[in-house]
Amino acid sequence: MATGQSSGQTRLVQSDLRATNPPVTAGLDSPLSALQGVGSDRLQLLARLGLQTVRDLLLHAPRRYEDRRTVCRIQDLALSQNVTIRGRVVALGVNRFRSGKSVFQLIVDDGSARLHCRWWNLPFLERLFAVGDDLLVFGRVNAIRPRTMDHPETEKVQPGEEENVHLNRLVPVYPLTDGLTQRVLRGLTWQVTERFAGLILEPHPELAVDQLTVRPAMEPGGRQLSLEARPFPKAAEALRLVHFPKELWEADLARQRLALDEFIELQFAIQRRRRRLEAKARALPCSGDNRWMRPFLARLGFSLTGAQQRVLREVRADLGGRVPMRRLLQGDVGSGKTLVAAGAALMTLESGFNVVVMAPTEILAEQLYHNFRRWLDPLGVTVEIRTGSRKTDSRDELPWGEGQEAPGSRPTITIGTHALIQTGFTPEKLGLVIIDEQHKFGVAQREELLRKGRYPHLLVMTATPIPRTLGLTLYGDLDVSVLDELPGGRKRIRTYVRTPEALPKVWKFIRAQLDAGRQAFVVYPRVEESEHDDVKAVTSEFRRIQQELLPNRVGLLHGQLGAENKESVMNEFRSGFLHVLVATTVVEVGVDVPNATVMLIEEAGQFGLAQLHQLRGRIGRGAHESYCILIANERNPEAEARLKVLEKTGDGFEIAEADLQLRGPGELVGRQQSGVPDLRFGDLRWDRTLVELARQIVRRGLDAAGSSTKA
Ligand code: ADP
Ligand code: MG
Repeated sequence: MATGQSSGQTRLVQSDLRATNPPVTAGLDSPLSALQGVGSDRLQLLARLGLQTVRDLLLHAPRRYEDRRTVCRIQDLALSQNVTIRGRVVALGVNRFRSGKSVFQLIVDDGSARLHCRWWNLPFLERLFAVGDDLLVFGRVNAIRPRTMDHPETEKVQPGEEENVHLNRLVPVYPLTDGLTQRVLRGLTWQVTERFAGLILEPHPELAVDQLTVRPAMEPGGRQLSLEARPFPKAAEALRLVHFPKELWEADLARQRLALDEFIELQFAIQRRRRRLEAKARALPCSGDNRWMRPFLARLGFSLTGAQQRVLREVRADLGGRVPMRRLLQGDVGSGKTLVAAGAALMTLESGFNVVVMAPTEILAEQLYHNFRRWLDPLGVTVEIRTGSRKTDSRDELPWGEGQEAPGSRPTITIGTHALIQTGFTPEKLGLVIIDEQHKFGVAQREELLRKGRYPHLLVMTATPIPRTLGLTLYGDLDVSVLDELPGGRKRIRTYVRTPEALPKVWKFIRAQLDAGRQAFVVYPRVEESEHDDVKAVTSEFRRIQQELLPNRVGLLHGQLGAENKESVMNEFRSGFLHVLVATTVVEVGVDVPNATVMLIEEAGQFGLAQLHQLRGRIGRGAHESYCILIANERNPEAEARLKVLEKTGDGFEIAEADLQLRGPGELVGRQQSGVPDLRFGDLRWDRTLVELARQIVRRGLDAAGSSTKA
């Protein structure tokens, strides 16, 4: 809510001014009570924004700027314009309707004409204004007859107040919390920039960032137009400019400097980790001798794609290198990453070391287990599984076994979930750690698994293509391989965005596919319905779909089922006993059923594009034409437009870029343990150049520091 600022609040400033006596020795780490006008109430409000110290407030980034140098005459307003006007309140009141709704209206006159301001269903606003108030109003002109703005932002002008802070200039507009007004917060940031910004030191003077130049944009975060390159301001100056710029491009220049500092810190962490590894660790020799690789490849029944061959060569070079491998394998769903993982595992096993593979879910772990046994049992390699609910060891019999030999000393590959970390699992002679769907784990989990051995090699894999900016930030310490080629014969999946009205036709289409012997997925965003909205959920739709598709057999799969239950449903679907799988996103990763040709996703607007692309990757894995149908709720035309990206492209990187722009990095890689840093000024959506620059600067900095300590 962005209105009704001031009234009683602003009057408080005046009295607090007299009451408080600021300590002279306050510094950057002083509590905000050191400022004039901050009593215990305000201290609490500021804390709600995460602001405790003077430094916190200096680093509280404005969310935009308002240009009060050009206050518009109400008479000159044009439709759809975003403008600031200034006038006196001449009338106000609330209209209540029988429906229970209400509208609060305020009429402002600046001598040239009148402007109507309206707020719906916020009747209490009436108390915050009075006839005669001198008001700044900022908003979009919705109508001309009469001139009207809906839900504008307002600020009362106090007589004799700091004109240079609140008026006749570009003013910063901050994220707020209820009870705190723009004017109060702006007054406080003015104080801290005047008194304290000068205390901010260059975080890394040796990097001489202020010797570099950059092209500012016309607006912060906006598109770079034809402005000349300027030197980055020093950190202290940047903090002044970011709050109180004279021009918008200055604010952008400042924001870029502060964002660069954030990216530099991240790069230091990443690159130092990598350098420590290179200095300390001696790699285990794991490049193998081909004795299992050859028969393995010969029995596959297909040949590797060029991309798979290239990546396996890169992996082999790493496994035989001086420094332990730290490699990220990116490849779209279906690009054949599992095969590369198996190849890497075989090289390690041939060299006499054991391998651990970690997957984010039990289903995926089972799937990998299933594939690895099919491939490796015939070679006499032991494959084990360890998940929260299941554990095998080498004494188990081998159902597909050929040429068994005594278990025990044989090289072993252990596949599991994060249970691998939690339990007392201690692999011997650990040579290689493979992590599938790396973005579902955090760096901490990765490191914990690695500590089970003595600098084992690491291969992490992800099917969510990571835009470069994000990749450098999250995985900058890893070398990257890309599988950019789908195995031959893979058809492009036809994708359609539809509204719920089309569902009867869709069910008819699915029945036809099932009649032809194919299988289908139907996916919902939730396990159960919520009372807060009417988003369809998997458990409530399941019975309806069973009826709809009789006599086909329909199974239900979601995360709240027990592991055994899940596994048996998956097996029934894999074996073709179940024709349809109604599921949540537990089918997102790894599930491999080549006979499935339909992916129907209801409430598709609830998902991110990358996630939908993942889901879509569950089909199109066999010889048959495949179809992905996305049902977008017609109540949400925006979501529908977003989904159209998937109709247009099957390129995971393109989709990931679009998702990053539309939803931000947290959504893209999964919020919990993703390691997406909290940035105040940087934005991974548009700061690619800065991220690259930070990487170079830090590399040079560390090189210089390294050579000077050696000298
Ligand atoms: P990803 O994990 O990258 O999504 P998978 O490794 O599960 O992909 O591979 C998808 C399917 O393609 C699997 O059935 C796999 O056996 C098959 N496959 C992998 N590589 C090839 C290839 N070179 N030629 C034909 N099929 C392949
Ligand atoms: Mg996979």
